[in-house]
Amino acid sequence: MDQFTRPVYTWYSQNFRHLPWRTTRDPYLIWISEAILQQTRVSQGLPYYLRITERFPDVRTLAESPEDELFKLWEGLGYYSRARNLHQAARSILINYEGNFPETYESIRQLKGVGDYTASAVASIAYGLPYAAVDGNVIRVLSRYFGIRLPFDTQEGRKVFGDLANEILDRNDPGSHNQALMEFGALLCKPRKPGCPVCPVKSSCFAFLNNEVEKLPVRKKKPTRSSVYYTFLLVESNHSVLIEQRKGKGIWRSLYQLPLIETDTLPAEEEVMLLRGVTELLGTPGSQLLKISRPHTHILTHRTIVARFVHIKCPVLSTYWRNYIQVNKEEISKFAFPVLIKNYLAEHEWL
Ligand code: SF4
Repeated sequence: MDQFTRPVYTWYSQNFRHLPWRTTRDPYLIWISEAILQQTRVSQGLPYYLRITERFPDVRTLAESPEDELFKLWEGLGYYSRARNLHQAARSILINYEGNFPETYESIRQLKGVGDYTASAVASIAYGLPYAAVDGNVIRVLSRYFGIRLPFDTQEGRKVFGDLANEILDRNDPGSHNQALMEFGALLCKPRKPGCPVCPVKSSCFAFLNNEVEKLPVRKKKPTRSSVYYTFLLVESNHSVLIEQRKGKGIWRSLYQLPLIETDTLPAEEEVMLLRGVTELLGTPGSQLLKISRPHTHILTHRTIVARFVHIKCPVLSTYWRNYIQVNKEEISKFAFPVLIKNYLAEHEWL
C-alpha cells in the first residue's frame, strides 16, 4: 500500500456510513443497491432499497412478480429503465442460472442494464474479484489526486481512468478498496467544497498542491437538454379518472399517465381550450372545466418537461375515450405514475 491508498483506507474505516448493502455479500442485494444508487443520492435511495428488498428478498421473488409491482415501489425514484432492466435481468437469471446470481464478471456484465461499473462493483464486493469500480466519485478522486486533466467522458479518458483504477486496486480485498474510494469521493473529495483542509492525502494531492481542485475533473461535453410540452387531462367522471399505460421507448415506458396531448410549444390557456380531447370533453353535455393549472416544470438529465394539467368533470364519456382505463379514487394508488403526475394527483387529493 502506498501514500494514497493507506490513508484512504484508514479514513474509510473511521468515516464510512453504515448502510445495509455494506453488511452483506449477497450479490443480489448489492446489485439492487447499485441500480438504485445510479443517479440517486444515498439518503433518497435508502428507503427505496429497504422497501424493494423487503418485498423482493431474492432474485426468484423479483422475477416471478409482475413488473408493475416493482414500478409501484420504484415510483418517485425516476429513471424507470433501471427498474425495467432489473426485472428483465432477474427473469434471465431465473431462466439461465436457475435463480442463482451469476458468479463471474463477464456473466454479470451480460445482465440487462449492467455496465462496467455495476459489474465491477458486484463482482468485487460480493465475490472478491479483482475489478476496479469506476464511478463519478472515483473519477473525481483520481483526477484530483493524480492530476489527470483528460476529459473523463471521452473514450481515451475512460480508458486512462479505468487503467489507473485497476493499477492501484488492492487485489487482496478489491471490494473494500472500491467501497473506500467511492465513499472517500462521496463524503470528502466532493464535487463542491471538498474537505481538503482535513484530507489525509492533501500533502501529496496534485490538485490541492497546484490549486486545481475546482478545475478537476474535466468534462468534454456539456449535457444538452431539450424541452417537451405536455398537457395532461384529469378527466373526472363519477369519482373516477382516466389513465393509460405509456407505450413506446421513453423513460416513462410502462408507467401510467393521464391522457396526454403533446404540443411543440406550451399552449396558452386559451389555446388549451382548442386542443383535441379538450374540445371533445367540453362538447359533452353537462361537462365542466374545473381548472387549467399553471405550467409545472420537471427537469430530467436530457430534457425538461413543461406540463399543464387540465381538470374537466364529465358525467358521460364518449367512445373517444374507449382505449383508456377508468379507475376510481380508491384504486388509483395501485398504479405507478411518473412523479410529476403523482405529485399533481396527490396535491388534488386523488392519491
Ligand atoms: S486534498 Fe482535496 S482534492 Fe485532494 S484528494 Fe483530498 S479532498 Fe480531494
